[in-house]
Amino acid sequence: MEYSLNIVHLYPDLLNLYGDKGNMEALKMRLLWRNIGANIIDITASENKIDFENADIIFLGGGADREMETVSNLLSAYKEELKTYIENDGAMLCVCGGYQLMGKYYKTSQNEIAGMEILDITTVSDEKNRLIGNVILESDEFGKIAGFENHGGRTDIKNHTPLGKVLAGHGNDGESGFEGVIYKNLIGTYLHGPLLPKNPVLCDSILERALKRKYEGFSSLAPLDDTLEDKARNYIIENFSI
Ligand code: GLN
Repeated sequence: MEYSLNIVHLYPDLLNLYGDKGNMEALKMRLLWRNIGANIIDITASENKIDFENADIIFLGGGADREMETVSNLLSAYKEELKTYIENDGAMLCVCGGYQLMGKYYKTSQNEIAGMEILDITTVSDEKNRLIGNVILESDEFGKIAGFENHGGRTDIKNHTPLGKVLAGHGNDGESGFEGVIYKNLIGTYLHGPLLPKNPVLCDSILERALKRKYEGFSSLAPLDDTLEDKARNYIIENFSI
């Protein structure tokens, strides 16, 4: 194989809600279908080394507050390396709890969990009024995106660029009308779903960003037949739009 990507799944044993793992499958299969290698590296809580030098895509999923705290403690050992990776255009997808952990803090009524301070965002949780349901976004870059959210956290993204405008659902805080953040090649979003199998354009964009960063001569991904993927996304769009 001419090309191959190393995809690091951070803490699948702690953060993995609502089919987050399906995002890894989508990344892997959309590479293999194009005859591009996919090497999945699971970093569990017992691991004590993350090879950021050779990482091409990093994924961090969502989870309950308790698991988020454990991940915050584990990941803080790599805070600087992770920041360098992102600043050097490393591709990363963070979902829900993982997204919140990229910011400054995640505050609940009980305590404050430290974020990795990669994004200038803050999250405060209102556990009693969780934001739950299907979400549809409109993104300039990716068109309509469909997913599922379930979070107590309200995220203030300050001056960051959102991933998209909320057409249905709650998004970052249930008020601003925006969802997620896109910063360099880091995408943070509340959308589980799993997100990438239903939104192949978004998945391919992550793959393409990583391939271009790794291989200077890489131009673009070959198209795939996305009939089924589009059907799954359009079902949500048609049935849950307001
Ligand atoms: N525990 C966080 C919250 O409730 C994240 C939840 C999630 O990842 N689905 O906001």
